[in-house]
Amino acid sequence: MSNRAIIIGAGIAGLSAGIALRDAGWSVAVYEQAPKLEAMGAALSIWPNAVAALDQLGCGDAFRKVAPELELIQLARSNGTSIFANLISDVLPGQRGYLPSRTDLQNVLAQRLGGDCLHLGHQLANWRTDERGVEVGFENGHIAHGDLLIAADGIWSRIAGDVLGSSGKHTGYGGVLALSDPVASVPNQAMGTEYWSSGARFGLFDHVGNRKYWFYMRNEPDGPSAKDVKLDDVRRAVAGWDAPILATIDATPEAGLIPFSIHAKPPPKKLGQGRVICVGDAGHAMEPNMGQGGCQALEDAVALGIAARDQDAPAILKRFERMRLKRVRSFVKLSAQGGLVSHRFPALIPLLATRGVSALFGAGARRQLPNLYQMPDYAKMV
Ligand SMILES: Cc1cc2nc3c(=O)[nH]c(=O)nc-3n(C[C@H](O)[C@H](O)[C@H](O)COP(=O)(O)OP(=O)(O)OC[C@H]3O[C@@H](n4cnc5c(N)ncnc54)[C@H](O)[C@@H]3O)c2cc1C
Repeated sequence: MSNRAIIIGAGIAGLSAGIALRDAGWSVAVYEQAPKLEAMGAALSIWPNAVAALDQLGCGDAFRKVAPELELIQLARSNGTSIFANLISDVLPGQRGYLPSRTDLQNVLAQRLGGDCLHLGHQLANWRTDERGVEVGFENGHIAHGDLLIAADGIWSRIAGDVLGSSGKHTGYGGVLALSDPVASVPNQAMGTEYWSSGARFGLFDHVGNRKYWFYMRNEPDGPSAKDVKLDDVRRAVAGWDAPILATIDATPEAGLIPFSIHAKPPPKKLGQGRVICVGDAGHAMEPNMGQGGCQALEDAVALGIAARDQDAPAILKRFERMRLKRVRSFVKLSAQGGLVSHRFPALIPLLATRGVSALFGAGARRQLPNLYQMPDYAKMV
């Protein structure tokens, strides 16, 4: 009989880890506290490294059918002056980025996993492991036994808190995001632009049928302040910014605004303990500045599946850490640096936009991106 993996959480990390472990021959049970699978947020960028991960998880074709392409990425000043712009296909010839809705990505993963493995309405209550296995109790009284426990329960994971000893901290900024209705004056160019100003940023990404995914982030203390933000507040805050921003806000229904507050963990020193492995935000919650939190969860799944081909549960963590620890630490650090200029040192923004510095900045990004956007060959790292 195959070994059994218990996965807590059915976000991007839990669903994809379930697929990878099942494909590696494990019997898999994914337990999710919510009574229904519902994606939080609106859309997200999926970069070529994560597209490669989706391909390895057998989801690539289904994903490409529902996800619009994202080909041009740009950083600009609030008035639209470009700081640097890059075509993904210039950085990695033949490869693409995408901007799926979160619901579409979740559906693709859930369908590939299959309903038999998924147990909704199961909130983790307690867990313990010993040399023989894992026992997990749920608030509804169910008890599950297995050989491996995968914590995929997000940034506030209790398991990761116990095992890694780290917890999420507020980063000093937050805001609102939304998916607009079609914006006729801003045709789709498969483009994503982030506009930087003093202590605030606006992200504007082309989505299907001239709809736009956008976010507005500003320096703010931890707490519920963004919950009260209305479209008019955003309009006032970005008055005078680039015209497509204002057109997009005008095409957004008030009810579509989703508030968020950004929390992140420090770079992890380990990714688990014994039979317990932390994946996704449970293991390495990062600031959203590189659009890689979900992408790294998908890479986790690929590496986990490879590490778990030999079903010796206690040995899997070491292999997984060898493949993943260095890379996720660098993403957590780079993602934190990505927020520094706009939120902490905005005086540097005009300097970045000067021709010489912008050229240097662009060249640095072009040097780094191929490494970041290319999923390592994890099979060679076992
Ligand atoms: C504003 C913003 C923009 C972002 N943009 C991008 C982007 O463009 N690209 C990108 O790749 N990433 C992006 N990210 C990051 C990305 O959203 C996360 O890294 C990713 O969603 C993490 O997935 P996860 O499955 O690890 O965690 P989660 O999505 O948090 O899922 C955890 C799951 O566990 C369940 N759970 C929690 N506790 C329990 C429990 N006790 N028992 C049972 N179930 C439990 C939850 O209900 C949930 O379903 C962004 C994040 C933010 C905030």
